[in-house]
Amino acid sequence: MDFSLSVEEREIRDWVRTFVQRELVPREQEVLRRERAGEPGLRADELEELQLKARESGFWGVQTPEEYGGMGLSAVMTALLEAELGRTFVPFRFGGSADNILFHANDEQKERYLLPTIEGKRKSCFAITEPGAGSDAKAIRTTARKDGADWIINGEKTFITGGNEADFVMVFAVTDPEKGANGGVTCFLVDRDMGWRSEYIDTMGEWGPASLIFEDVRVPESQVLGEVGQGFTLAMQWIGRGRYLLPARAIGSCERLLSMAIEHANTRETFGAPIAERQAIQWMIADSAVEIEALRWLVLNAAWQVDSGMDSRHAQSMAKLYGGIKANEIVDRVLQIHGGMGYTRELPIERWYRELRLLRIYEGTDEIQRRTIARNLLKGHVKVGAALG
Ligand SMILES: Cc1cc2nc3c(=O)[nH]c(=O)nc-3n(C[C@H](O)[C@H](O)[C@H](O)COP(=O)(O)OP(=O)(O)OC[C@H]3O[C@@H](n4cnc5c(N)ncnc54)[C@H](O)[C@@H]3O)c2cc1C
Repeated sequence: MDFSLSVEEREIRDWVRTFVQRELVPREQEVLRRERAGEPGLRADELEELQLKARESGFWGVQTPEEYGGMGLSAVMTALLEAELGRTFVPFRFGGSADNILFHANDEQKERYLLPTIEGKRKSCFAITEPGAGSDAKAIRTTARKDGADWIINGEKTFITGGNEADFVMVFAVTDPEKGANGGVTCFLVDRDMGWRSEYIDTMGEWGPASLIFEDVRVPESQVLGEVGQGFTLAMQWIGRGRYLLPARAIGSCERLLSMAIEHANTRETFGAPIAERQAIQWMIADSAVEIEALRWLVLNAAWQVDSGMDSRHAQSMAKLYGGIKANEIVDRVLQIHGGMGYTRELPIERWYRELRLLRIYEGTDEIQRRTIARNLLKGHVKVGAALG
């Protein structure tokens, strides 16, 4: 069993590490200042400028297939890159990507939606959650009713990431109430100027999502993504596209936080000695280091299963669950080690404290991951200890 990276993998990882250090970390204080002033940490033009800078070195469309101008990197490599990006809270992502389900578009839709999204000229959002349907996505009530050659969409979506900035949405609506999620849900590509509107939702973190309101929004048949009735399958495909990437990012955040804790513990003195000499502090540092390492291997194993074409859902749920819980425990310990300073806004720990909390909620809460894991085991879909076959 060889866990080492190839020369090329190491080079790619190191390039991103340097990019983060040179281009993103110096912006952190400004990002914090802006957040406190209620502004986005990175303006759209700044994000684009950074993305183009990365593109000059070939970092564009990390997982986008090469035929679409992307890098087509493996899941393992992408997880390693996400971990590097997680070392800063500056909200950067590489350009050149599009939602996986847009690749199901027909040729005409690819021209109008997929290609401009990859080029960064159009912005999408994915909308399934509703005020009455989150974990239980099958309970969605938004409807699309046929009217001549068109569909009329009515309903409300909520917590939609990028919903305020998007110029089109992939929205899921019930087209056959009898069948519901079993063949009665359809995905529509709907431009903002076709009539939906969005309302910002203030949250603990920077990622302010939006509510989307559809009132008699008329769309032609050509806006159906995939096939009528196949929307729920597409929705599950979108959600399952890379659950491992969320905890992957947390690995970098936790490593950075732990480094801050180590430095503080070595320099902060109480009762005539650095707090690093106290067992209470040492145990927090030791536990955090072990848990970060465990998280790394859960994430990389899930990514490796994706690359191997295996059914990776169980491994991805385990990585997501563990990452959400442990990242929150670790940021809490790091804040504790910093004492009163940890609680201030002079240090970015409180920012991470708020941001990492989301990991336990979106794209499947802790409870839903546990439900999946337990169900797989109880029903015998996955055998205990079968990870290595
Ligand atoms: C910042 C942010 C961004 C988001 N982005 C998007 C997006 O882009 N697109 C989108 O469609 N959605 C998005 N969501 C929605 C997100 O996926 C849901 O919030 C999440 O799935 C939980 O649903 P809910 O909020 O309705 O909670 P609920 O489903 O009402 O759950 C409430 C509580 O009950 C628990 N619970 C529910 N069912 C069970 C069960 N069977 N057993 C045990 N416990 C259970 C949950 O774990 C949770 O603790 C986003 C959410 C946030 C906060």
